[in-house]
Amino acid sequence: MIEPGQTIGILGGGQLGRMTALAALALGYRCHVYCPIADSPAKMATPFSTTAAYENKLALGRFAKAVDVITFEFENVPADTAEFLAERKPVRPGPNALRIAQDRLKEKDFLRSIGVATAPYHAVSSAEELRRALEAVGPRAILKTVRMGYDGKGQTPIRADTDIGAVWSGFGTASGIVEGFVEFACEISVIVARSEGGRWATYAAVENQHSHGILDTTIAPARITAEVAMRAEAIARHIAEKLDLIGLVAVEMFVTHRGEVLVNEIAPRPHNSGHWTIDACYTSQFEQLVRAICGLPLGSPAHHSDAVMKNLIGPDIAKWREAINDPLQKIHLYGKDKAEPGRKMGHVTKLIPRR
Ligand code: AMP
Repeated sequence: MIEPGQTIGILGGGQLGRMTALAALALGYRCHVYCPIADSPAKMATPFSTTAAYENKLALGRFAKAVDVITFEFENVPADTAEFLAERKPVRPGPNALRIAQDRLKEKDFLRSIGVATAPYHAVSSAEELRRALEAVGPRAILKTVRMGYDGKGQTPIRADTDIGAVWSGFGTASGIVEGFVEFACEISVIVARSEGGRWATYAAVENQHSHGILDTTIAPARITAEVAMRAEAIARHIAEKLDLIGLVAVEMFVTHRGEVLVNEIAPRPHNSGHWTIDACYTSQFEQLVRAICGLPLGSPAHHSDAVMKNLIGPDIAKWREAINDPLQKIHLYGKDKAEPGRKMGHVTKLIPRR
């Protein structure tokens, strides 16, 4: 067990790292944040940090010496970096989960190999292959980059009348993945924590509404039938088990009008759709991550309130002023200075106490 007083290393300096550090500090841990950007939200939460590239072996070696366990807060940390660190200190979740989650093709192949349903998809590396793939996945589709895709980045919608040659030449990378467009009734996600002995904690399935590919609102719990929720939760646990995960995994899914559940993406880290757990659950996703990676017993994931979480994106950060006088609206700001469009600046969780 990693005991309170020991040090958790966090790769990545964004808001997920910041909220992980705040939860870890509450339990008496020290946190050391490693991130190439000096002025980052997570570094403001702790005096221990390293500012260096993810490829800097000297800095990574020193970081490993300074910490007792390592986790990551976004999945684009190079998997080789996680591997290098895993030879020195426990990295939880392990580098394998990272490798799968940061490559859309590996991710979909992994899901298929463990019997989890997804949208139909094909790997493509030329306009001709794209044309052929569209015959299989349907004329309405989305072409995505294999790597570095998040918040709707690297996505090109395709319709029956789209000029495929132009799409491919504008795509900008040598290979991609094309997915059939899912006419979903809603998007949901489930976060599962798993600890070393294979113990579980599963949060209620929540409903996610996106705007321009970025999460805008999470409604907790999701407005779906108990049967669909149970299936979604079982899928998330199955994925966590097959990843042999220690930590958290967030599983994003589409629910179709016929009640099918298709997995879109997995993220082996805290997730934006789990921010409501800070204020509405007995144990937040961040505390749960700390418990899981440190070998503490997992806490209850049950919620004492329903909730609606709204992201404050770009100039929307000003909306904290409207929320500040309402005792049921909990404000979380990430300390970022430039409110650029599309940048997640904070979130507000509106609590709806259960009677
Ligand atoms: P992603 O970056 O893959 O999470 O995609 C961002 C958002 O784009 C998703 O949350 C969906 O709203 C939408 N999207 C992605 N893939 C599909 C798909 N195959 N069918 C329909 N909508 C999709």
